[in-house]
Amino acid sequence: MNPTEFILTIEDLTVSFDGFKAVDNLNLYIENNELRVVIGPNGAGKTTLLDLICGKTKATSGSIKFKNTELTRLAEHQIVRTGVGRKFQTPSIYENLTVYQNLEVSYPEGRSVLGSLFFNTTHAVQARVHSIAEEIFLIEQLNLQAALLSHGQKQWLEIGMLLMQDPELLMLDEPVAGMSAKERDLTADLLNRICKNRSVLVIEHDMEFVKKIAHKVTVLHQGKILAEGSMEKIQSNETVIDVYLGH
Ligand code: ADP
Ligand code: MG
Repeated sequence: MNPTEFILTIEDLTVSFDGFKAVDNLNLYIENNELRVVIGPNGAGKTTLLDLICGKTKATSGSIKFKNTELTRLAEHQIVRTGVGRKFQTPSIYENLTVYQNLEVSYPEGRSVLGSLFFNTTHAVQARVHSIAEEIFLIEQLNLQAALLSHGQKQWLEIGMLLMQDPELLMLDEPVAGMSAKERDLTADLLNRICKNRSVLVIEHDMEFVKKIAHKVTVLHQGKILAEGSMEKIQSNETVIDVYLGH
């Protein structure tokens, strides 16, 4: 296949922590507007994979290409600027700011301009905050202090903060952990909507949730890919059942 068809091309990626390979010679290809879910047992290397893509952890060897840019040579803030957004397992929002302010401060700095354009910029930011708040089910909570949101609403707010930057690749680590069934359903709707014009990489354990969102599933085990394909194919794979789904 032509590599330019992929938004993310990971080849021969390895990271070794004192000789222990948390990610071991991994190849992963993600298409435009694809929603990929990575599953696998604890310690499989899922979070480390996201750390490598966003530059938090440096690869020992191998390549991570985002569009035409090699990410393994870039610093975290440079990777963000290429259009990669990443949500960590625990929400990192500003608890003492309102929902509105949390979204507002997430508007990319480079896009705000001083002087005569200030008025237009302010309006552009306001419009964007409102449209994103609507998207993440928090339009009624715009003026509420973030500390007062439910755990699930905090997770949505953090997704919204990432959406403010309009990333072309959005990575989410266990986004529905701790959410109610209703919140999980809404999150599935949200992710199905936002992958219409970007690629999304999700790590998740909740198989009911995975079923609702995954275009393709990658099963990671001991830093390597154990299986990859449609949800149906993965769920009937004997090895996957043995090492992961059976438990
Ligand atoms: P998962 O997210 O799939 O549960 P992780 O990616 O967090 O797994 O961890 C994979 C393995 O790598 C674990 O054994 C973990 O202890 C190890 N690991 C992760 N980060 C580091 C690090 N910075 N230093 C040493 N070992 C690490
Ligand atoms: Mg993890």
